[in-house]
Order: sequence, then C-alpha cells, then structure tokens
Amino acid sequence: MADRKPNKKSNNSKDRRKSNNSGDEDFNPKFRKVRKKVCLLCSNKDLVLDYKNAEQLKKFINEKGKILPRRATGACAKHQRDITNTIKRARHIAILPYTQG
Ligand SMILES: [Zn+2]
Repeated sequence: MADRKPNKKSNNSKDRRKSNNSGDEDFNPKFRKVRKKVCLLCSNKDLVLDYKNAEQLKKFINEKGKILPRRATGACAKHQRDITNTIKRARHIAILPYTQG
C-alpha cells in the first residue's frame, strides 16, 4: 500500500577526517590554510651551512641519521641541495653518522 520511494538521502559526509595523530610530521591536515613555508636559508642570510658544524646540521637529519626531505625541512631546491651536500661532506669526515640506531 504505502508506495513510498526510497527517498534520496545524501549522506555523504564530506569531512571524514582521519585522525592520524602522528605528531612527528610537520604538516597537519587540519591546517588547510596554506601556510607558506619559507626556506630557512633564504630567509636568514646570516645562516651559512658549515660542514664542520654538527649541531647546525642535526636539524636536517632525523634520528636515524637520514637527510630530511624538502617537505620536512622547508628548504628551497637550491638550499636543499646545499644541505644534502653539506651533510654528505660531514658524514665523510665522520662528523655526522651515516646510520644510527
Ligand atoms: Zn633557499
């Protein structure tokens, strides 16, 4: 009797937010607003990479001793290249480890 149509309920919840709480990474999907990441070395002209300065270079490697990618360091292409070269130079003279842990 009750000839009811299946009413179209559009239940597509757009914001199915995955709660990936890996607070390790620098980017957070909550912050959709494009926060312009400026290159550390471009913004600070006084900062000069030094392969003998391990403390400075430790900012660009993770705990395993790997070189961080650009999305983590925020460096521009030119400076990421410089960072990579400097870290490799530092590794060669055993200031930084190749691997750790
Ligand atoms: Zn730069």
